[in-house]
Amino acid sequence: MAGSVPELPLPGAPLLLATEEVRLLWSFVHGDIMSAPMRTWLRASLGFCPRHTWAYAVVEIELWESGVGARGGHQPFDVSVLYEDLCREAASRLARGRAWGRRPDAALLPSRPCYLCTQLAAPAREGLAIGYANSNSVALAAEANLARHTRHWCSATLDTWEPLACPACLGRLAGADDGAWLCRLHLAEALRAGRADDADPAARLAAAARRLNRLADRLGAFAESMTAAGPPADAEVETSWIAALGFFAGWRFPAYLAGAAVGEG
Ligand SMILES: [Zn+2]
Ligand SMILES: [Zn+2]
Repeated sequence: MAGSVPELPLPGAPLLLATEEVRLLWSFVHGDIMSAPMRTWLRASLGFCPRHTWAYAVVEIELWESGVGARGGHQPFDVSVLYEDLCREAASRLARGRAWGRRPDAALLPSRPCYLCTQLAAPAREGLAIGYANSNSVALAAEANLARHTRHWCSATLDTWEPLACPACLGRLAGADDGAWLCRLHLAEALRAGRADDADPAARLAAAARRLNRLADRLGAFAESMTAAGPPADAEVETSWIAALGFFAGWRFPAYLAGAAVGEG
């Protein structure tokens, strides 16, 4: 499961997002995120699958060309709004603890499938595959696949987020202590395995809930920094979206983009 991150091409090569994935995500960025039934779905599915979690950020960052705030465009605004919500949702699930009779990792698992995957699996509807506002999906996919801005962001902020990254994702489990900030996938795996150092899974889930709430606060500040009157973000706030997506979908993708050393985790 932890290995189900996007297939990674050679370092520096274009990503491998299909035109249809980019078309669907570009439409999603323009409206679906605001719909209440969609938000209910995304809370149940804990966002997208790992591949589409990172693809969603790439599509917004690469293709959104203008905005307010210091950067102007090419920033993960929708991503931050959505993940502030998902971090709070996940925190409240984890804080509730394990219900009687449920598997130990239940709070970390989605109860609905990835929305993008279900859209991709739906039978093709001839004549309806038009990009948002008639956009040229092939050209947008080519642009997104270069991942220029996302790559730069992940590289330039590596020193801030790397210490927060899940050591299991980066193949650095040896020497990691109990307080390591495991991603959702590896935390679920550790709870399922009932590792000897997990004497108190409830305490571990509660600690993860506290961290997610702190992360949600930073994501709120980050989203505000991208508005006209918002104060500028500090380094920790600037990388909060990477930390959030890393928790939900694993960290190998930003590590790959940043050219960080990754072991065989
Ligand atoms: Zn998916
Ligand atoms: Zn991990």
